[in-house]
Amino acid sequence: MPMTNMFVDETEAREALVDVGRRLWERGYVSANDGNVSVRLDQERVLCTPTMVSKGCMRTSEMAIVRLADGAVLDAGDGPGPSSELPLHLGAYRARDDLRAVVHAHPLHATALAIRGEALTARLMPESVVALPRIPLAPYATPSTDAVPASILPFVHTDRACLLEQHGAISWDADLESAYLTMERLEYTAQMLLILRGLGEVRELSPAQINQISDRFGLG
Ligand SMILES: [Zn+2]
Repeated sequence: MPMTNMFVDETEAREALVDVGRRLWERGYVSANDGNVSVRLDQERVLCTPTMVSKGCMRTSEMAIVRLADGAVLDAGDGPGPSSELPLHLGAYRARDDLRAVVHAHPLHATALAIRGEALTARLMPESVVALPRIPLAPYATPSTDAVPASILPFVHTDRACLLEQHGAISWDADLESAYLTMERLEYTAQMLLILRGLGEVRELSPAQINQISDRFGLG
């Protein structure tokens, strides 16, 4: 593959996956061997984290390279191969040509809402309105079936992340850092909502306040 066709440098992408995996684990967004992260290397190949390995202590050599078109493993490195949840990532990449990274995790508070079957639509803070105005809920699908990637397709073009019913959360973006930061914001918003519910009535921003924010930040 000529370097000119590469979206990102492969060595840097491997190091970035290790870094993001450690941050996900340190913040408690994944437990045991859960979660998976990927980066799109070029038009045809995706670099992804290994299955059955804690995301807190991965090695760059354990990452797997799979073919975007059919998920075939092109290079498993010295790891156990890609996650069985990889089709979720590939479905997002196939739907949007500009996507370069996908992060899937099970953050505790966001997953609690996902298990309750709730979308995260409360307008709590200006930052959320600007950066992550809504976090929809993808309907439950049996793991490792085609229904899983299909469940997120309605949101891939319109949102930056969604909850996965009875499962967890997923975010996507044009670069890995942005996709990771969206996962942080998603979990923060979920945790804040649950704290507020414990305190009583949840106060949301008013429609007038949201309009002012939208005008100020040029939101559609
Ligand atoms: Zn999962």
